[in-house]
Amino acid sequence: MVDHNPTAESAELTDGFHLLIDALKLNDINTIYGVPGIPITDLGRMMQEEGMRVLSFRHEQNAGNAAAIAGFLTKKPGVCLTVSAPGFLNGLTALAHATTNCWPMILISGSSEREIVDLMQGDYEEMDQLAIAKPLCKAAYRVLHAEDIGIAVARAIRAAVSGRPGGVYLDIPGALLGQVMDVVEGAKSLVKVIDPAPAQIPSPASVDRALEVIKGAQKPLIILGKGAAYAQADEVVKDFVEKSGIPYLPMSMAKGLLPDTHPQSAGAARSLVLKESDVVIMVGARLNWLLSHGKGRQWGEPHSTKFVQIDIEPREMDSNVEIAAPVVGDIESSLAALSQAMGDDWAGPPSEWTDMVREKRETNVAKMAPTLQNNASPMNYAGALGAIKRVIDQKPDTMFVNEGANTLDFARSMVDMHRPRKRLDVGTWGVMGIGMGTAIAAAVETGLPVLAVEGDSAFGFSGMEIETICRYKLPVCVVVFNNNGIYRGTDQNRSGGEDPAPTVFVEDARYDQMMAAFGGEGVYADNPDALQRAVMDALESGKPTLINAVIDPKAGKESGNIGSLNPTSGAVSRNNAEALEIIKQKAAQ
Ligand code: ADP
Ligand code: MG
Repeated sequence: MVDHNPTAESAELTDGFHLLIDALKLNDINTIYGVPGIPITDLGRMMQEEGMRVLSFRHEQNAGNAAAIAGFLTKKPGVCLTVSAPGFLNGLTALAHATTNCWPMILISGSSEREIVDLMQGDYEEMDQLAIAKPLCKAAYRVLHAEDIGIAVARAIRAAVSGRPGGVYLDIPGALLGQVMDVVEGAKSLVKVIDPAPAQIPSPASVDRALEVIKGAQKPLIILGKGAAYAQADEVVKDFVEKSGIPYLPMSMAKGLLPDTHPQSAGAARSLVLKESDVVIMVGARLNWLLSHGKGRQWGEPHSTKFVQIDIEPREMDSNVEIAAPVVGDIESSLAALSQAMGDDWAGPPSEWTDMVREKRETNVAKMAPTLQNNASPMNYAGALGAIKRVIDQKPDTMFVNEGANTLDFARSMVDMHRPRKRLDVGTWGVMGIGMGTAIAAAVETGLPVLAVEGDSAFGFSGMEIETICRYKLPVCVVVFNNNGIYRGTDQNRSGGEDPAPTVFVEDARYDQMMAAFGGEGVYADNPDALQRAVMDALESGKPTLINAVIDPKAGKESGNIGSLNPTSGAVSRNNAEALEIIKQKAAQ
């Protein structure tokens, strides 16, 4: 048993603070995203003192979103550090987001003492955080003794990155940090995680079955998802796609795994390939709402599509429709096995099919090209995104962050990606508010310039973090697509009252002046040429920049491309005399 209250004679001690720092560093975790406060303020200071990079944010949700995307980019858990109850809850949204997206992340939160929490005696920021975190993440652990910190950190790391990655919660009651123990015993208690995400080799039978299904296809399609991007098996993915000769469709964050201009890309023929394909090979992508659950009109039903699915998570199979050939394994091992099994005399799909896809793609690209040249002022989405597209084409290593409604939907189809893991966006939930946290982590983790293209509404969720961007002097250029509101800036109050409509913002707001307030560059751009020049300058200078890009308030669509998810109001009667009388009587009670 370790003595938690050693006498003054014990010469050489360590404590919970330093054991936690040593445990993280031992496992190559050297960057922390968080917000300081009780009881973890000193922990942040000591982490910095011990050589870790500590990024302090203005709100925990943004720090959490940074940690989540760091996990996606590095295959190591991104770590978010928060204070107790409210800070913990703010970080929890991001932890759930990471879990939903299958990204490794660890949320470490300080908490109140168990004795008081469990008797509900009303401690400062009292909350049973472990119980609350559990249903929202992949695993949740609490550490009560200093000698358990090493094993707890090891468990958290392994839980986050092994199998299907996800979010892990680590509960750190404040007093733990101050606990002391013998420094040598402490060092012995640390655990280096060996092979945290072991390769998962698919069974040979599953590979053969998949190949049989693919061989039988007349109109095969590959769908690459962000799991394939996460896997960092870029060469293996490329070899498989090119050797197979099969058209591929990248999901949003898989764009750039192969360049969007690749001859086999079906990105610009999306509707056609989903409707027409007879065999679809899912590679680290899920048949969720983003793919209409693999059924219905979009999939050309009544004809049925056969699915081959490659995924590390066995329970993903048959989640929405029958999977004819499940291949359970990691992307790298699975695709390598499939490529090998295809042999050297693989014929590839019928040319009628590949020609059909190519023609559709070329027609659609040609149709889009002139709209991207629209030079109107104020700008519409195509005009503004044409400017952004030209910048990314010239600077393909730029980290591209994107959120909003129309700003997101149009950018996804109009801005080509050329390199893997360069497009970072709202993920599986389509969550607004990931912008600045994502941009900060992208800069910190890659050292590359970052371009964040944000709807004005989306920007508002994390906008205060431009101070963080300026404070750490990060090479981030934020472009706010300012159309005075959500979807459009033209809605009217339907009651005729004085308040603005729920979807509009201050007209002609100057977001650029916010950046100037913190010492960054603020630029106002109301035409595509000015926008393109300003973005280029910002990426080249590496100075924190915010460009207020003036978008026509009439240009947007309701909810962008997913307006169909809005419930619609039925044939409602608001003047029924009997109903009105009942409500009047209830109000009088
Ligand atoms: P998208 O939204 O791009 O379709 P999803 O996030 O829905 O992508 O799906 C990603 C899938 O990738 C998840 O089912 C996850 O289990 C899987 N995955 C993540 N990492 C790996 C890996 N290394 N090997 C195999 N599958 C993986
Ligand atoms: Mg807007």
